[in-house]
Amino acid sequence: MVAKSLAELNRLKGTATKLHLVSSEDIVCRDIQCERVTRPCACKLAVALEKSGQNLREIDLSGNNLDSVPESLFEKCANLERLSLRNNKLTVEAIGKHYKLRKLKLLELGGNPGMELSVECYNRLAKRNVKVRV
Ligand SMILES: [Zn+2]
Repeated sequence: MVAKSLAELNRLKGTATKLHLVSSEDIVCRDIQCERVTRPCACKLAVALEKSGQNLREIDLSGNNLDSVPESLFEKCANLERLSLRNNKLTVEAIGKHYKLRKLKLLELGGNPGMELSVECYNRLAKRNVKVRV
């Protein structure tokens, strides 16, 4: 089951296995209480993932102008194998510790001009057989 919006993800409850939010309206913040309102923000996504993200194997968040991804964002997504963060504005600091996701096999980071993964980070990922595409 592929969810292409957060509404769809919520509707599918825990049965969605893929979430594709490419250049998505859902990543533009509409919460006036959030400091990032009107800008790219993952706060709504965080709530949806916490509720319905447990069976997701693939999340595509490319093309959303995201400049940060909260460290706890994928905490409930223990089955995540493929994560695409392509074409955003992320830096190594901004992706935090997401490369520690236990089942992760593929991490796509291309098109983030400020992204420079350290050799140490590469080696750690390689050791765990996580493929990184930059
Ligand atoms: Zn927000």
